[in-house]
Amino acid sequence: MLVTLPPDCGESDCDEMREQLEVLGLHTRLMRAGRGWTVVCYGDPDLFARVKQFTFPAGAIVTAVPQPYVLCARACAPDRAMIVPGPRPITLGDGGIALAGGPCSVEGLQMLRESAAAVIAAGGTMLRGGAFKPRTSPYAFAGLGAAALEMLGEVRRETGLAIVTEVLDARQIDAMIPHVDVFQVGARNMQNFSLLAELGRIRRPVLLKRGASATIEELLLSAEHILSRGNTDVILCERGVRAHETLTRNTLDIGAVAVLKQETHLPVFVDPSHAAGRADLVAAHALAAVAAGCDGLLVEVHPRPGEALSDGKQSLTPDAFIDLAAQLRSIAAALGRTSAPAAHQPAQRVA
Ligand code: PEP
Ligand code: MN
Repeated sequence: MLVTLPPDCGESDCDEMREQLEVLGLHTRLMRAGRGWTVVCYGDPDLFARVKQFTFPAGAIVTAVPQPYVLCARACAPDRAMIVPGPRPITLGDGGIALAGGPCSVEGLQMLRESAAAVIAAGGTMLRGGAFKPRTSPYAFAGLGAAALEMLGEVRRETGLAIVTEVLDARQIDAMIPHVDVFQVGARNMQNFSLLAELGRIRRPVLLKRGASATIEELLLSAEHILSRGNTDVILCERGVRAHETLTRNTLDIGAVAVLKQETHLPVFVDPSHAAGRADLVAAHALAAVAAGCDGLLVEVHPRPGEALSDGKQSLTPDAFIDLAAQLRSIAAALGRTSAPAAHQPAQRVA
């Protein structure tokens, strides 16, 4: 429920109303709305019945939020863009298209530097790379762990790229904080509610991937778990769902991008790599995602995909990634949007 107060109501009027709503057991947040304030009220749907007896200040406009998620709902923050406060702050959801690239797993410092150079040459602003890898087989390479975090931190200092890496367990969060700008929650953990609760307590953006069999509503409710704990910055990521197709690894739900853009103010990313599962299909998936309105892309890039320890089949070479970025710029321009600017010089290290 949103209660928009007339402009002559000040913060103290809001505080009074919030107190009364909270006595009922509901939660509230205060949001600027033009010259005035809106009180966002959320919590157990059964408690809202009691609000009916409530007397709101004269001139207040009460709007019900029909969805089971409130803080994620578009109505809750209609014009909100998000800042990733990395070494160079990045704005998401302002009409631009952000580009994140890098290997599935961090395999060493040299390959990470080469991947970062590809991201910069493509005009990207974020470097992805897994330190802790969830693998279907217990015998598969599971990442270099803490050593990989150090490497990500090192390349972050050298390049100014923001670091996106997956957190598998709440116990890893503290060790990750010094090196990581965006905490990725993988598809397999989308409904790991205790992990989501812990990520709700930190002040760092979370990139929440959609589970392979999760509905869009379930994705949004998982984001709501994070937002309701206080973290305001969640990036949603469509990465393909499990359907009957076998020629692609997953099935990219392109319609989900359009639905999410309607339903929520949160930025929407697409991972074309895990959807396609094959490098030769990644560009088509990525271009379609931009045409559908996504705010950013998360793409697997490896300097030598044939040697990759995980997901080599779907990883782009640096050249293919740079070509893709150029194609993305054409689509973005046709839509009146901006995409990763081309880097006109070879990637440079920034101290
Ligand atoms: C990944 O990004 O490497 C990954 C494991 O992704 P997902 O959780 O989407 O499978
Ligand atoms: Mn991967």
